Amino acid sequence: MSERTAPLAAGPLAAAQQEILKCPRCGQCRAYCPVFGELRDESSVARARIALAKALLEGRATADADARRCLSECTLCLACTANCPSGVAVEQVVLAARAELAQRLGVGTVERVVLGLLAKRDDLLPLLTFLGSSLQRLPFAKLPDDSGLRLRFPLGGLERRVLPALARRPFLAGSGPVVGQGERGTVAYFVGCFDNYVDVKTGRAVVGVLTHNGFAVALPQDQGCCGMPLLANGLRDTALPRLRRNVDALLGAGAGTMIAACASCGSALRHLYAPTFTAVGDGEYAEKAARLAEHVRDLAEFLAEAGIRRPERELGLRLTFHDPCHLVRGQGVKAQPRELLRSLPGVEFSEMAESDRCCGGAGTFSFSHYELARRINDRKVDNIEATGAAVVATECPGCKLQLNDGLVRRGLPQRARQVAELLAAAHGIDV
Ligand code: SF4
Ligand code: SF4
Repeated sequence: MSERTAPLAAGPLAAAQQEILKCPRCGQCRAYCPVFGELRDESSVARARIALAKALLEGRATADADARRCLSECTLCLACTANCPSGVAVEQVVLAARAELAQRLGVGTVERVVLGLLAKRDDLLPLLTFLGSSLQRLPFAKLPDDSGLRLRFPLGGLERRVLPALARRPFLAGSGPVVGQGERGTVAYFVGCFDNYVDVKTGRAVVGVLTHNGFAVALPQDQGCCGMPLLANGLRDTALPRLRRNVDALLGAGAGTMIAACASCGSALRHLYAPTFTAVGDGEYAEKAARLAEHVRDLAEFLAEAGIRRPERELGLRLTFHDPCHLVRGQGVKAQPRELLRSLPGVEFSEMAESDRCCGGAGTFSFSHYELARRINDRKVDNIEATGAAVVATECPGCKLQLNDGLVRRGLPQRARQVAELLAAAHGIDV
């Protein structure tokens, strides 16, 4: 389906007009874009996406499959934004343009069902998790976690991915509203889908490390998906009710600080919520989201600044660190996780080349564009291998998934772990 457009006076793209007009098409973003680095195609770089958005806005371009491809081949890694001499917020343009296309062309059936479920019926996700977990365990019950098993549901891209098993019970279902005594105060933990439904051990590690270090942890039960998968796929209107519920759940938790151990969740809470509400004219929630954003911290950022108890256990590991795009550029957090990791007993830290270059994970991007994501990841895996590290630490479940996919696929022994898992091991916390 395609549609020749009239100028879009009031569509989602109109809100990004100011950013679009800032771009003089200098082309410097070509040097930083991981997608352009692989494809070497002018249509796969930020200035082409902005030019397309401008043409759509002015009614000179067709909303069609080519436009969708151009806009979908972006990992939202923020590398262009961080290095743009004109200060263009490229991700805002890409998200607005995707929302525009979704409005005009609709989205695929699988995406609509799965992503719509994330937004509207996350009360059903515990049931789906249990069913998925039960089915998944049948043929692979004896395989170890990191054996490289492939999920076999015939959904786009999933059957080829290295994926961990779904949890039998969501993390939040097994947690009380507040954990720990909190002699150093109370924080609220925003868990995120992956650690809630898949990697519950990391969720337990986050809570264990925070309580071990003197913080009570509030777990607002009405929190859900951060909305990033919906926003990244252009489903802004579908995401809005979920975003509002998260804002209310976190502000209602009575904690001074909101902790995220997923870089994308943290970045969305800090920098996407308020502009999204502003773009749709919801002033009440734009104000609430801006207030919330001031109190959101990444786990490693928070603990490095608050200080941790001296861990007793020697890890005896050479470590390196992969900077998630939405941590290093999305939240400006770079030194803190390294500081924490270097302080752990028995850790030798080895910096990798291009540690802040995108791994290709990018949430649903690595499923919808698996081959491209794999090529981007190959360069990351080369850089990890060159450090000689046994473990690559990171601060994003999506990056962890993508890095482990690349490491297992290449037959390498290294594995990705989240900072919280390593801290828990050093503190002797059993998760
Ligand atoms: S997005 Fe920035 S770096 Fe890229 S062409 Fe436009 S002004 Fe230049
Ligand atoms: S956000 Fe990343 S992938 Fe997208 S255009 Fe910019 S540099 Fe390229």
